[in-house]
Amino acid sequence: MPKTDNINSIIDHKLFTEEDIHNMCVKLGKQLTADYAGKKPLIVGALKGAIFFLTDLVREMDVKAEIDFLDVSSYGDEMESSGEVKLISDLATDVKDRDVLIVEDIVDTGLTLEYMKDLLKKRGAKSVKCCVLLNKEANRTSDVEVEYSGSKVGNEFVVGYGLDFMNYYRNLRYIGVLKPEIIKLVNNK
Ligand code: 5GP
Repeated sequence: MPKTDNINSIIDHKLFTEEDIHNMCVKLGKQLTADYAGKKPLIVGALKGAIFFLTDLVREMDVKAEIDFLDVSSYGDEMESSGEVKLISDLATDVKDRDVLIVEDIVDTGLTLEYMKDLLKKRGAKSVKCCVLLNKEANRTSDVEVEYSGSKVGNEFVVGYGLDFMNYYRNLRYIGVLKPEIIKLVNNK
């Protein structure tokens, strides 16, 4: 773990500025407003990475929506998916007959999203779709459908705006790529 407390010091370069992120939320918000018109969706945020995105996104949606959270983990403190998905904390809301929209920070292998979609379908949700901020397609092992996404990203480990590195740096206002020396530090530990 870097010794400095300056949260910007671990970033090599910015990928998405605050303005880029805002524009993605506005665009997705408009699409979702149109697609969920007349419905009362249950918006399910995937903890903890999606909280920043969810709060900005729902305020761009002119839809009567309920919000709940699910904590599902496939990474732990690591930088690569363990391949095993665990339910850490469940919803408080019954999803039966509800139109559910999962909000996720990033989809990588797709295993986490597949697990969440299957779980909510098994519980009797009327529809289950997802909206991800970032879509990393290079490592996809699941054929889960990603209905809405803000932007594609390459196979790099990104941090900020909810996305963590060893549980820190979620509070960066922008999204950036980690410095290679930080990645080496973790790989050599
Ligand atoms: P998947 O199951 O699709 O492989 O992984 C999804 C989860 O992995 C995301 O919710 C996120 O927590 C984590 N993840 C995947 N790629 C990245 C990345 O580049 N940066 C960060 N911080 N987390 C990632």
